[in-house]
Amino acid sequence: QAGAAPAHGPLLAKDARHALHPWADLSTLGKQDALVITGAQGVEVVDSRGRRYIDAIGGMWCVTVGYGREELVEAMAAQARRMPYFTPFGDVANEPAIELAAQLAALAPGDLNRVHFTTGGSTAVDSAVRIAHLYHAAMGRPEKHHVLSRVDAYHGSTYLAASLSGKEADRVRFHYEDRWVHHLESPGHDPDNSPLSADDRLTGLLDGMEAAIARIGPENIACFVAEPVLASGGVLVPPPGYHRATRELCRRHDILYVSDEVVTGFGRLGHFFASQDRFGIVPDMITTAKGLTSGYQPLGAVLISDRIADALAGTADPGKPVFSNGFTYSGHPVACAAALANIELMRREDICGHVRDVGPYFIDRLRELRGSPIVHAVRGDHLMACVECRVPGESGPTPRNMALAQRVDAYCEAGGLLVRPYENLCIMSPPLVVDRAGIDRIAGIMAGAL
Ligand code: PLP
Repeated sequence: QAGAAPAHGPLLAKDARHALHPWADLSTLGKQDALVITGAQGVEVVDSRGRRYIDAIGGMWCVTVGYGREELVEAMAAQARRMPYFTPFGDVANEPAIELAAQLAALAPGDLNRVHFTTGGSTAVDSAVRIAHLYHAAMGRPEKHHVLSRVDAYHGSTYLAASLSGKEADRVRFHYEDRWVHHLESPGHDPDNSPLSADDRLTGLLDGMEAAIARIGPENIACFVAEPVLASGGVLVPPPGYHRATRELCRRHDILYVSDEVVTGFGRLGHFFASQDRFGIVPDMITTAKGLTSGYQPLGAVLISDRIADALAGTADPGKPVFSNGFTYSGHPVACAAALANIELMRREDICGHVRDVGPYFIDRLRELRGSPIVHAVRGDHLMACVECRVPGESGPTPRNMALAQRVDAYCEAGGLLVRPYENLCIMSPPLVVDRAGIDRIAGIMAGAL
């Protein structure tokens, strides 16, 4: 039994004085009450005032199997007791990392049989781009180093991953890498409000991508990095056929396709990996994190094709490490033990099957909210969704920089629901174990808040 929650007031005072939260508005930090989460069970969290909320954020897209899963806690504790850490560098290995790499290879599509562990999603994306650069250099084409990304993408918060991100509001005040990172048009699709058919939209996107490749020169492009469904950019689902067509374009021009499954991996779209099972493509690399451990430990991974790994190994030069990439906590044994227990639990409870079952119900229930005068659109796929708000009476989408969602979020919070407000978007990614009753609660509180 955990002890009583620490006193709310003193905690907030310390937080306001000392903690700089990630992605926070520093002008309001400390001036308004932070939400201090002190406990969690199932799909609910409890704050330091004893208020309960249904967590429709899933921690941060990551708590997939729900809170309080003893199997994961026990696996982590047992590994920490046995051997908490040793270096992963060079030819030193640890058991959970070996076992997890083998399991990820078995779950991954095609010949993605090699796994490079990282500390989270940003470092996985960062590593994938470096691997693409190393690969083309190994193939004797070092000039192939430009990277294609997309407007509205989010790939993380290291300088390189942030350079790939294409959310306009995030791209201020830093010197992002724009000499060799190029942002293609956002594939965001709002079928309810778009004047274009899905086919016309697809044609436009592909023409734009071909034109960009021709302008930059395919001989200069290393890779294309793409989320299967753009997550924090607004849960943007590309039009049907987009994934296969962009995959084919990349293949034709020897551009490596990196599928960023930090959010879409590990069940959120009803499969361990969405690239092949949901969208029919086998990428050259997959980046994953978040749901890999269900958020119980920080861990990320890049899954790499045999073809790429063999090419890197083939150019090994004694005395010069060809694979100069990795982190102190790559393949951390306790994090890998959590991931192994998570995969076992997901299999045993058929979490992916459950998501395929309740996912369409979640989207349908949220789509009922379109009747509200402040809802512009409802988008989503299985258990990732977004309610895009607008000022009542105005037609067309509301500009992204409105703080509208924060007001909706405040009402949600008062009603016992946590969603993620971003500009005019209320983003939702509940734990995958949410059932129909939980979905009804989310939709009901959201309707009241709107
Ligand atoms: N890639 C995608 C698609 C993400 O949504 C995120 C985080 O939200 C990242 C990468 C970065 O992951 P992390 O915050 O673990 O570094």
